[in-house]
Amino acid sequence: MTYRPTIGLEIHAELKTNGKMFCGCLNDPDERHPNLNVCPICLGHPGTLPTINKKAVESVIKTGLATGCRIAGVSKFDRKNYFYPDLPKGYQISQYDKPLCLDGFLEISGDKIRVRRIHLEEDTGRLVHVQGGPSASSGQSASLIDFNRAGVPLMELVTEPDIKSAREARKFAEELQLILRYLGVSSADMEKGEMRCEANVSISEDAAKPGVKVEVKNLNSFKSVERAIEYELQRQAELLEAGEKIVQETRGWDENKEKTFSQRLKEEAHDYRYFPEPDLPPLNTSLFDLEKIKAEIPELPHYRRPRFKEEYKLSDEQVEILVSEKELGHYFEQVISELKEWDSSRHRAKLAPEHFDAIIKLTANYLISDLMSLLNESGDAAKDLLITPENFAEFVVMIHQGDISSKAAKIILKEMYGSGADPSHIMEEKGLSQLSDTGEIEKVVKEVIDLNPKAAADYRAGQKNAMQFLAGQIMAKTKGRANPQIVQEILSKLLTE
Ligand code: ZN
Ligand code: MN
Repeated sequence: MTYRPTIGLEIHAELKTNGKMFCGCLNDPDERHPNLNVCPICLGHPGTLPTINKKAVESVIKTGLATGCRIAGVSKFDRKNYFYPDLPKGYQISQYDKPLCLDGFLEISGDKIRVRRIHLEEDTGRLVHVQGGPSASSGQSASLIDFNRAGVPLMELVTEPDIKSAREARKFAEELQLILRYLGVSSADMEKGEMRCEANVSISEDAAKPGVKVEVKNLNSFKSVERAIEYELQRQAELLEAGEKIVQETRGWDENKEKTFSQRLKEEAHDYRYFPEPDLPPLNTSLFDLEKIKAEIPELPHYRRPRFKEEYKLSDEQVEILVSEKELGHYFEQVISELKEWDSSRHRAKLAPEHFDAIIKLTANYLISDLMSLLNESGDAAKDLLITPENFAEFVVMIHQGDISSKAAKIILKEMYGSGADPSHIMEEKGLSQLSDTGEIEKVVKEVIDLNPKAAADYRAGQKNAMQFLAGQIMAKTKGRANPQIVQEILSKLLTE
């Protein structure tokens, strides 16, 4: 029996704002000292009043515009009532029937996944479970609460159940993360809990009769999103095969056991007793300059991909790396623009326009392999690079023109990375210049052939490995500086004359 999977995602992302959602406390996800960024408002003291964080609203509007949503004319906040130890007010201020953004979509590998809504709410505090308890001698475990995160602006995006596979769900989440980062509205780091996914999963035999929906929570990595959905589709199919019923429920994902497990029977919206937040007036979005927010949206990944491919003729893999590493992609384009405006009078290395395409390829190769591994080793961000785009451009031209060997290039790049120094200076300082002048090389080749008549005769008599001996002599005579490719060319030319 084959079943049709129906998958929808709910994705929460913490917004990168200075303050919290409804108070002036710092929104600092890196604060390690517990309960430092708190005040009576985010601690839920009675009688306190919330005020709306404008930047948070703008961030959600920006995300909505970037995902093709329409922005509601009037939006409002509601109370979602439930008890949880890390929810000091006993309710969360969220948005129920009038979310900020509606009816958007994202295209994932040609499939249109509709975005039902994006709304704004506040995050809860964080429970810290410790062994040993508050007094370590007790030997008992205890749960502590850190309210630094309570009241942090949280965006929630809900898709329509348009997703057809676990793989596609993962891709959607990855693409959304990338968009949030391009927009600069959230760091969306799943490892840090800045972005969290839940999936609604059901299967059915025919499209007309949707199956029973199971919600899977605790998906804290892209891998978990994919694995948990795969597991759940399999589990539900096995139940149906065995003639059993699927229960509507909320299930958690156990990352270690790679299994979902029942947490609670699914609550309905009415269980939360939503009602309009009495302390906040409806939000009139005409007070926001939508055109200005729109103008701040940078070129998004789905536009950048085809442009990079077309303009620079890069491979799909190269494009994907330069698009997902936004800063590196930006740096790549800065280097290209330096190359376009190459001023030969200012550089030792000369750039011939007909070699431009080859140099772009070389630039992408060195950025993606060599520069990226230096960045990964050091943990530095591409935006903090000491190498100016101009110096990187010169470096690539030097390689292309044969001024330096690929071995010397690695040494020079490492030096540039550490100090930001000019590549031609490093080359001179370290004596790394490569001899690529054919006239000069030919002179040495002739000398070596004259000095080794036996090896030359051996080669001409069919002993091909005599060539290696001669090439070795030439490299030794030039102290390893001769361009090996040119040496080979001249050597075989002179030996077959
Ligand atoms: Zn506060
Ligand atoms: Mn929520």
